Amino acid sequence: MSRVHVIGAGMAGLSAATSLAARGVSVVLYEQAKFAGGRCRSYHDTTLGCRLDNGNHLLLSGNRATIAYLDRIGATDTLVGPDKPLFPFIDLVSGAAWTLRLNRGVTPWWVLRRDWRVPDTSPRDYWALRRLQRAKPDDLVADLLGDLGPLYDRLLEPLAIAALNTKPEIASAAPLAAVVAESLARGGAASMPRYPAIGLSETFVDPALAFLRAHGTEFRFGARIAGLTVSENRVTGLVGPNVDEIIEPNDRVILATPPWVTAELLPSLTVPDAFEAILNLHFRAGIDPGKAGFYGLIGGVAEWVFEKTEVVSVTISAANDRLDSDPETLAAEVWSDLRRGFGLPRTMPPYRIVRERRATFAATPAQLARRPGPITRLSNLTLAGDYTATGLPSTIEGAIRSGATAANAERASG
Ligand SMILES: Cc1cc2nc3c(=O)[nH]c(=O)nc-3n(C[C@H](O)[C@H](O)[C@H](O)COP(=O)(O)OP(=O)(O)OC[C@H]3O[C@@H](n4cnc5c(N)ncnc54)[C@H](O)[C@@H]3O)c2cc1C
Repeated sequence: MSRVHVIGAGMAGLSAATSLAARGVSVVLYEQAKFAGGRCRSYHDTTLGCRLDNGNHLLLSGNRATIAYLDRIGATDTLVGPDKPLFPFIDLVSGAAWTLRLNRGVTPWWVLRRDWRVPDTSPRDYWALRRLQRAKPDDLVADLLGDLGPLYDRLLEPLAIAALNTKPEIASAAPLAAVVAESLARGGAASMPRYPAIGLSETFVDPALAFLRAHGTEFRFGARIAGLTVSENRVTGLVGPNVDEIIEPNDRVILATPPWVTAELLPSLTVPDAFEAILNLHFRAGIDPGKAGFYGLIGGVAEWVFEKTEVVSVTISAANDRLDSDPETLAAEVWSDLRRGFGLPRTMPPYRIVRERRATFAATPAQLARRPGPITRLSNLTLAGDYTATGLPSTIEGAIRSGATAANAERASG
């Protein structure tokens, strides 16, 4: 019986593997780590003595591929969020607090309501968002939208940094336009904020592994693929410290590794090669979860804060310039912001900083031009991963979509 060998058990690999397994295809899943999830996982943190996510991940109800994936693996109920499309913000400089609220339908009448839109903005400001429809890869976010005053400072800039993990002065507006087209432009029903009820692994990883186990998938954890053997324009073998696998003539391979690994395995392929960090600081503390369970922060070190079961977690995106910050100084700066925003005590509680150095590729025009499609010059090898040419930024939705695309390419090729 022919098999599909999926390399990498991050979101892209799990998406591809579960799509194939659901169709009755025999799958072998290789993962270099002892656990699955890649850049989207939970773990037990010994410093804080509790379970943490490697980083806060925010999704939107309009993330269709993600919803379909969760439906497939039986985990739809583990993704939660407010029952209305709302986004609370706190301005740490002025002390102002507001909640952006959308109506559910496609016609955005919410912009007519002063108490629903961003303070000090007018309906006409939102009309200017149509510029995004014509955004080309070379258009930079700050050039295209930066003249929109409070709408830019209080919504578009934090939204762009969250979606693209790249400073708006160098980020392409095209992937932001794709996100807006699939969420805001489809109305509030497609723009509801969503996040895991417990943790990333409990929502995206553990149910997928259980699904694959039930469908007879063969797991190879701790199996780093260090090289592909190629003959007559097809992959004939996978090799690594613990792997020596022959790829049979009817077998196929999906490479769902991050771009820097894909580049080592396929040196002639062009892939993104500039990355942006994300830092998450987890404090052993609690804040009022409010209506949404999270807040956007304006004018602070971090852009978002999430109330979790055992910790308060903040996200600092596009954080390459913060990677080498002294941990105690950084934590004190963030704690000072949290004190101002949420009236927390002066004494800083135990904290943990999780640095993801290569959280996403940099969404610059030059890097977008390096994204490969799923098809390779090797007849039985397909690519998946958030860095492939999905049109979306480096996100869970992009990774899951790429995995589904790779699985469909397998079907097309028989
Ligand atoms: C801190 C942080 C916050 C984020 N926030 C958000 C957010 O709010 N919303 C959102 O949508 N996205 C967010 N993202 C992005 C999202 O997590 C990624 O886009 C997505 O997880 C990438 O999945 P992937 O499968 O493409 O890659 P990866 O997760 O990198 O998976 C690749 C897998 O391949 C394995 N592997 C590597 N080399 C080998 C090898 N040689 N052999 C075998 N296996 C190998 C790796 O161990 C890994 O498991 C965030 C990312 C980070 C790090």
